[in-house]
Amino acid sequence: MKKGTVLIVDDEVSNIDIMNAVLEDDYEVCFATSGEQALSMVHDVMPDLILLDVMMPGLDGFEVCRRLKQQPMLVDIPVIFSTGLGDTRDEMQGLALGAIDYVTKPIQPAILRARVNNHLELKQLRDRLAEMAVTDALTGLSNRRHLERTLEREIGRLARRGDWLSVIMVDIDFFKQFNDHYGHLEGDRAIAMVASALMRAVRRGSDLCARYGGEEFMCLLPGTSPQDAMNIAEEIRTQVESLNIPHALSQASRVVTISMGVASARCTPGISGDYWINEADLQLYCSKKSGRNRISQKFCENVAEELNYNFETVRR
Ligand code: GH3
Ligand code: MG
Ligand code: MG
Repeated sequence: MKKGTVLIVDDEVSNIDIMNAVLEDDYEVCFATSGEQALSMVHDVMPDLILLDVMMPGLDGFEVCRRLKQQPMLVDIPVIFSTGLGDTRDEMQGLALGAIDYVTKPIQPAILRARVNNHLELKQLRDRLAEMAVTDALTGLSNRRHLERTLEREIGRLARRGDWLSVIMVDIDFFKQFNDHYGHLEGDRAIAMVASALMRAVRRGSDLCARYGGEEFMCLLPGTSPQDAMNIAEEIRTQVESLNIPHALSQASRVVTISMGVASARCTPGISGDYWINEADLQLYCSKKSGRNRISQKFCENVAEELNYNFETVRR
C-alpha cells in the first residue's frame, strides 16, 4: 500500500519527472506546473505533503505557501521547498513562512526520499495525536473536553437564528452492582457496547456522542427539536435494551438498561452550555428516581424568560 499522497509543484516538467521517479513507487504522486494550478487542485487532492518550487512565473512558491497557510483546512499539510543550491536567503524565508524543510536542486534521490518519508511519518503521528486528544480510548466516542468545546461552539452558531439545541445525558442503571457481579472487565465491555448502541441511534453528521464520565454519556443534537430529541432518546433506549446484556442484579430489568435526561432549548446569544448540562442532569435524576430505564425531558422556547414556556414531561 502506498504511504501517502505527495503533490509536486514545479514549472519545469523535467524537475517533476526526476522527483516523480524517486517517489512514485512509495507514494501517490500528483503534480502542478504553476502556483495557480496547485492552489486550484489542492482541495480536491488533499495531499499529505507538498513539494513546492520557489522560483515559478506567476505566483511563486513563497506566495503559494503563504496562501496555503492562511486556510485552516490546509495549514497542517507539510510544505517542503525545492530551491537552487546555495539560496540561503530563500531557505530562511521559506521556513519563516511555515515550510517544514527544503531540498536543493539538482535533486539527490536518497535525500529527497528520506526527507519526504520523515515528514510524512511525523505528519501521521501529529494527526494521530490530534485525534487522540479528542477521543475516549475505551469507546472511540468523543471525550468530555471535546464535547464541552463543541457545545459552546454550536451554541454560538445556533444562537444567530434562535435554533433548537438538544442534549441527552445517559447513565447506565445499577452499574455498580454490574461491576460487583460480573467484574470490572465485563463492566468495561458493557460500556463499550452501550457506546456502540448510542452511535447506531445518533446518526446525523452534526450530532456528537461523547463519554462524559465513567458510565455516563452525552449526546449533542444541534438543530434538533424537543420532539425529535425525544424520538432519538427512545431509539437509544431500545438500542441499549436490545443489546441484551444480562444484568442479574438490576432492579429495573433483567438486562443492562440506561436512564436519560433530555434538555432542549432555543439558543440565545450569551447563554452557556452549562444550562443544557444542568437541565439534562436534573432530568436524568428524575428518570432515576421514577424507576430507571426511562427518559425525562425539559424543553424551553425562551431561556431568557423561562416563565412562559417551560414544560416538563416524564415518559416511559
Ligand atoms: P444508578 O442506577 O443510580 O446510576 O446506579 P449506579 O450503580 O450505576 O450508580 P452510578 O451511576 O453512580 O455508577 C457509578 C458506577 O459505575 C461506579 C463504578 O462501579 C462504575 N464505573 C464508572 N466508571 C467505570 C468504568 O470506566 N469501568 C467500569 N467497569 N465501571 C465503571
Ligand atoms: Mg453514573
Ligand atoms: Mg449509573
